[in-house]
Amino acid sequence: MTGRLTIVGLGPGAEELQTPQARAVLDAATDLFGYTTYLDRVPTKNGQSRHGSDNREEIARARAALELARAGKDVAVVSSGDPGVFAMAAAVFEAIEDGEPEWREIDVTVVPGISAMFATAARLGAPLGHDFCAISLSDNLKPWETVTRRLEAAAAADFVIALYNPISKARPWQLGAALDLLRAHRAPSTPVIFATAVSRTDERIEIADLASADPSRADMRTLVMIGSSATRLVPRPNGEPWVYTPRRVEASVS
Ligand code: SAH
Repeated sequence: MTGRLTIVGLGPGAEELQTPQARAVLDAATDLFGYTTYLDRVPTKNGQSRHGSDNREEIARARAALELARAGKDVAVVSSGDPGVFAMAAAVFEAIEDGEPEWREIDVTVVPGISAMFATAARLGAPLGHDFCAISLSDNLKPWETVTRRLEAAAAADFVIALYNPISKARPWQLGAALDLLRAHRAPSTPVIFATAVSRTDERIEIADLASADPSRADMRTLVMIGSSATRLVPRPNGEPWVYTPRRVEASVS
């Protein structure tokens, strides 16, 4: 009998930010697949097999998971945050589209999770209170010129921008280039947030402005958020301002 495959969002890190639905699926699964670092966040259970793999092996992982589900196993594929945001859900559907016809009979479910941009926004106040977009700076799967074209469009449309995958050892300069590009469109005082390891014990959140935003503040676990022209700080006596974007947009703002 064909088994099932569930793609599960683990949330940004803290256990309490994982949904009960995600926990139930992880508990019931016979086999867990995922990037080893993410699998390590799932408590071990007797009798459950774990198939950890490298970050880059997403399609191979998806295919292996589908094969086991077809053979009757109850398979969970884990992602950090939400599995549909720059993560495994799209990889699984890509594998299904190009894969064995029988894979289409598998009961595939996606269990949502709290994405890094939402966990970050909640820490700060309400920076995503009005229109926003999310862009991955990784050019592993798309040309860099596509990234810059989308950044230009997002900047021109005055979206709040959430940047995922801002930097890595193999991609050291892209975030600096992205910030330079945005400086040509937005005021020097535009808030820029560097939110690293949100909800984890080593969480670090820094608020800078676009003029002085230093790309070296980011690493692979950082979500970078750039405000729109309306995003503002509300100072507090403790020195940690709230950041929010008003819901109302004046007619003069494009
Ligand atoms: N599916 C994930 C995103 C995967 S892409 C989600 O919905 O959150 C990986 C990128 O997500 C990282 O480079 C970083 O930009 C961001 N990210 C993931 N977890 C994070 C966390 N706890 N704090 C800040 N950023 C995080």
